[in-house]
Parts: sequence; structure tokens; C-alpha cells
Amino acid sequence: MENPFKYSDTNKRYHTFDYYVKHRFGKKVVKVGLDGGFSCPNRDGTKGVGGCAFCGAGGAESLPLGRNEGLPPSLDLQYEQGRARLAKKWGNAPVIAYFQSYSSTHAPLSVLKELYERALSLEDVVGLTVSTRPDCLPRDVLEYLTELNQRTVLTVELGLQTTFDETARRMNRGHSYATFLEGYAALKERGIAVGVHLINGLPGEDREMMLENARRVGALAPDLLKIHSIYYRKGTALEKGFLRGEYTPMSLEEYVFLVADQLPLIPGKTVMERLTGDPLRSELVAPFWTADKKKVLSLLDRTLAERDIFQGMEVDLCKMHKNHGDISLF
Ligand code: SF4
Repeated sequence: MENPFKYSDTNKRYHTFDYYVKHRFGKKVVKVGLDGGFSCPNRDGTKGVGGCAFCGAGGAESLPLGRNEGLPPSLDLQYEQGRARLAKKWGNAPVIAYFQSYSSTHAPLSVLKELYERALSLEDVVGLTVSTRPDCLPRDVLEYLTELNQRTVLTVELGLQTTFDETARRMNRGHSYATFLEGYAALKERGIAVGVHLINGLPGEDREMMLENARRVGALAPDLLKIHSIYYRKGTALEKGFLRGEYTPMSLEEYVFLVADQLPLIPGKTVMERLTGDPLRSELVAPFWTADKKKVLSLLDRTLAERDIFQGMEVDLCKMHKNHGDISLF
């Protein structure tokens, strides 16, 4: 069957970040990760202590920058270094400044304003992405984000990881699914684009639960979604459990076949910003296949093609039938 997926102009059967930026900005745009020196309410006692079981000393669940102590270098220097790394491949492509470490709204409003405004003033920055927890969005911050959203391409990334409270408790996540839904709704009702993070393979979750995570998140139709497999990092609570033999990591095939079954549950308009993790090899304890991003994605592409699967095929096609066959209505 010919791929009828409308959010792709390549052989990809899901809505890639590249496709999104190309159509949103008219050209390639890169993301430069920045560390604003934030902490996390699940570490500093505001909401909890110890942090999530999978979170290492470097901070947030995605692309840790390796800050273990002290303050990070100035934003300007981080930006310069980040751009220099990306320039080898992408030249002087425009940039989305990405506050990704720890909880990037966890500071007084005056501090947030100083950091975000500085980031937006850096050369070639065309947008801002802020990664945070759903319980870290007080009213004054929401008001500022609403105002920012009028003058730049803003995305707020919310860590969810699981929709099951029992799993969240086991992972010491420190918030419930209901709290996530509140944070999500507060952003969406202000017209702010939201990215969501989900993790597959959290201890205690079986395949059906992970499919249900995708089903529930798909029903929200977030603007962007990142999915990756759990990996055991040095210095985390999960690493200790893994070394005691309490957890069995997913195999590459299990992960890829699961994602292939999750994608049809996610509406096509949701940008799949990530479908695999990107752990630092120096921090990785297991499973080692998670460090081979290319291999994971190429097996996924092959699996989707062989099984004739594309993102949204369950949810979008149902909607299309309800809309009397007009695919343009979603
Ligand atoms: S909320 Fe994010 S930064 Fe905070 S402990 Fe959990 S994973 Fe780490």
C-alpha cells in the first residue's frame, strides 16, 4: 500500500522534527541545549528529594549536559560552543534555544526573564523551548510564557514518562497523571505548544500498559512527543536495582515492535521529536543498544515499512471516517 501519510515528504512513516521545522520555518533549524543553572523541585525538597529513579547527577531525562555541581558556564559561552559543534554539519542554521537541564521553570520569575530574554537575544535564535515538570508552572510563570508565546516560537516540554500513578510512585516521580493533565491544560488553554516525554520499559509496566500510555497521550494530541526506552545510568537509583538483578531491560526488538504499535495511536499532526534515547556512553550501564540511535531508527523504519504501519493510522483514520472521508479536517 502506498504511504498515505501527509506529514512526510521522505520515506518516514512518522512526523519528524525535521519535517516540522522545514515547514514551520522554511528551512533547517537546529536546537542548541542550554543549562540555565536550574535545580529540580523533586531534588531540592520543594516537591521531593532524591529525584526520579532514572535521573542521574547531570539532571533531566534527556540529553544531560553533565553538570554535576556548581554553576554552568554563561549562556553566551554555552551557546557559542553548542553552535560550533552543530556548525560542522549544519553551518549557520537558525537556532531554537533549548533550556533542557533539570526543571527550567523552577526559579523566581525575574531569573527566568533574565535567562530567557538573554537566550532570545543571541544571534540567529528563532525560538525557545523550555523543559520542565507539569507541577512547576505557577500563575506568574504561565502569564510570562503566554506573553513570550506572542513574540517567539515557544514550546514547553513536560516530563510525563508514564500515565500510571503506581509506576510514577515507584519511580519517585513526585507527581500524578492528574497533575500532568492540569499543567498540560494550563499551557494549551493559553495557546502554548506543548511537547510531552514518555519512557517505555519503566519497571512494573508491561506492553499493554505502555500501549495505554501512548493511547492516553495520543488522545491529548500534543504538539510534540518524545518517546525513548528506559536506560540504566550510572549513579541512579535504577542502576542499583538493575545491578541487584531486579530489572530486565527491553531488547532492541521488543522496543522497536512496541513503538511500531504505539505510533498508530498518536495523531499524525503530533511531531515525533524523538523515538529513541541518546544516552552518554560514559554513563550508560544497560541496555547498550540504546546508544546506537541509527540502528534503532533504521530497524524502526524497516519494521514500519514491512508491516505497512504509519503514525496515526488508528486514530486519524477513525476521525476521517467520522468526517465523511475528508482527511483535511484534522
Ligand atoms: S523531574 Fe526531571 S530533573 Fe527532576 S529528578 Fe525527575 S528527571 Fe530529574
